[in-house]
Amino acid sequence: MQIVVLLIAFGFVMFFARRNAPTRGCRWRADATGDRGALRKYNCVACGAEAFTSTKGPPNDCRSKLKTPKL
Ligand SMILES: [Zn+2]
Repeated sequence: MQIVVLLIAFGFVMFFARRNAPTRGCRWRADATGDRGALRKYNCVACGAEAFTSTKGPPNDCRSKLKTPKL
């Protein structure tokens, strides 16, 4: 019976871990018109977030929860 309790507890942990995953549902699209020097602008078409990266590829995290004010 203890193994069942352990499995249920594990399931709960995985559920909350996945729910808090920042990259869930984000689809980044490069926006070349918004580039600033070495920073490349990306728009998330899933939540509308904007992010700038200096590295190759889209950002890892979604900024939907950090509502940054428009400049
Ligand atoms: Zn997003």
